[in-house]
Amino acid sequence: MDYFPLFLDLRDQPCLLVGGGEVALRKAHLLLAAGARLTVVAPALCDALAAQRDQGALIHLPRAWQAGDIHGMRLVIAATDDAAVNAEVHARCEAAGILVNVVDDPARCRFVTPAIVDRSPLMIAISSGGNAPVLARLIRARIEAWLPHGYGTLARLAGRLRQRVQARFGGDDRARRRFWEQALDGPAAERALAGDEAGAEAELEATLASGDADALARGAVYLVGAGPGNPDLLTFRALRLMQRADVVLYDNLVSPAIVDLVRRDAERLYVGKKASNHALPQEDINKLLVRLAREGKTVLRLKGGDPFIFGRGGEEIEELAAAGIEFQVVPGITSAAGASCYAGIPLTHRDHAQSVTFVTGHRRGEEIELDWPRLTSPSETIVVYMGVAQAPRICAQLIAHGRAPDTPAAIVEKATLPDQRTLVGTLETLPGLLATSQVKPPALIIIGNVVRLAEKLGWRPS
Ligand code: SAH
Repeated sequence: MDYFPLFLDLRDQPCLLVGGGEVALRKAHLLLAAGARLTVVAPALCDALAAQRDQGALIHLPRAWQAGDIHGMRLVIAATDDAAVNAEVHARCEAAGILVNVVDDPARCRFVTPAIVDRSPLMIAISSGGNAPVLARLIRARIEAWLPHGYGTLARLAGRLRQRVQARFGGDDRARRRFWEQALDGPAAERALAGDEAGAEAELEATLASGDADALARGAVYLVGAGPGNPDLLTFRALRLMQRADVVLYDNLVSPAIVDLVRRDAERLYVGKKASNHALPQEDINKLLVRLAREGKTVLRLKGGDPFIFGRGGEEIEELAAAGIEFQVVPGITSAAGASCYAGIPLTHRDHAQSVTFVTGHRRGEEIELDWPRLTSPSETIVVYMGVAQAPRICAQLIAHGRAPDTPAAIVEKATLPDQRTLVGTLETLPGLLATSQVKPPALIIIGNVVRLAEKLGWRPS
C-alpha cells in the first residue's frame, strides 16, 4: 500500500492555499466544500477566486508567500507555477509536520487528493497513487454512471435512523444487521432512490416499531421501460433494477441483447405478445405479477419502449395497486423517439411540423377507427404504432379525409437495432411499398412533411 487512505474532517480548520490561478481554484472549491477555513496567499487571484473572496468565503493575503504563513495550518496546498516556491512551501511544511501537497508534483506530496464520486454523505475516493490520474478519472466516470444519485439520500436517511436502530436492537448484532440489509437493499431503499425519501422513512420507522425486519423483505414489482431495443438506450435505473430482479417477465419487443443484461440468476419468464399470438393473456400476466410479488420476490416487468405508451402498463399496475403491492414505474425511450432519432426524422420541426400524435393501428373490433379529421393538418406528424397490417387502410382514410396524397410517409423497421431499415414513400405509395418489401416487426409508420428530412439527416450507427 503506497498511501494510507483516510477522510479528513476539515470543518473550520485553518488551511492554506499558495497560488491564485485556475489550478488553485479547483483545490479551493474542494477545501471550501469540506468547510475549511481557507486562506489564499497570492499576489493576484483569478476572477472566480476573487469572487469567493468578495463573498467572504476565503481570506486573501495579496502578496508573495512567506514562510510564516504556514504557522498554525492543518493542511497546505501549493499551486503556484513557480517550482522554487512550491519546493520551499513543501520543505517548510515537512519540517513543521504539516500535511502538504504540491499540485502535480507527486514527489512533493505528503498526501494526494483522489478523484471522487460525491454522493454526500457517501463519498467514494479513487487514487492511482499519483501514477495515472487519468485512469483514476476514467474509473470515477464509470462509478458515476453506475451509482444512483439517490445514494446520498439513502445514506442520510440511514444516518437519521441510526440511533433508533441501535436502541431498538440493542446488543443483538444479527438482528440489527438484518434490519440494515433489508432497509438498504429492499423496496424501501428503492423508494428513497426514486426520490420518495419521506415515504421510505415512514416505512422504515414502522418496521422499526414492529421489530420485524423481515417485513421489509416483501416483494415488489418494477414496471420498467426497456426502450426500443438497443441496450445503449436503457436508463440507469432500468439497468440497476434489471440487476436486482429475482424474476423477470418480458415479451418479444425486448431484444435478446437487453434480456442478457438481467441478473444472471434471475428466473426469466417469456410472456410474449405478438399481434396475433398472445403467449399469455394480459389478465394472466396481471395475476402472475401479483402472485410472484406475494411470494416475496423482486419482480421485473420489462416492457418494450415506454411502459405507459401503448404498453398496457396502466392495466398491470392497476391490479398491483388493488392488491396493495409495492410497485414502481420506470420510463423508457418510446420507439417513436428511437425511430425518429435513428432514422433522422425529427418529429417536430419549426418549418414542417408543429405537433405530433402517437396513434395505435391495432384494432379491437373489425375496423381501425381513428379520429381522422383531427389528423389531416399538413403541419401534424403522425406516428402509428402497431400499424403495419392496417397501413393501406390508414393511408386511404387519411387521403379520404383530406390529407394530401403526396404527404411523405416512412416505415422504420427494427428501429435503433443493428438491422434497422427505413422505407420512404408517400401516403399513396406506402401500401405498395409494404407489399413488396416484406417489412418485419416491430415497425412504426411516420407520416408528415418531416419525413422528407430523412434523406438529409438519416444516419446509421456503425
Ligand atoms: N410501449 C412501446 C410500444 C408497444 S406497442 C413503446 O413505447 O415503444 C408495439 C409497437 O411499438 C410495435 O408494433 C411497433 O409499432 C412499435 N415498436 C416497438 N419497438 C420498435 C422498434 N424497435 N422499431 C420500430 N417499431 C417499434
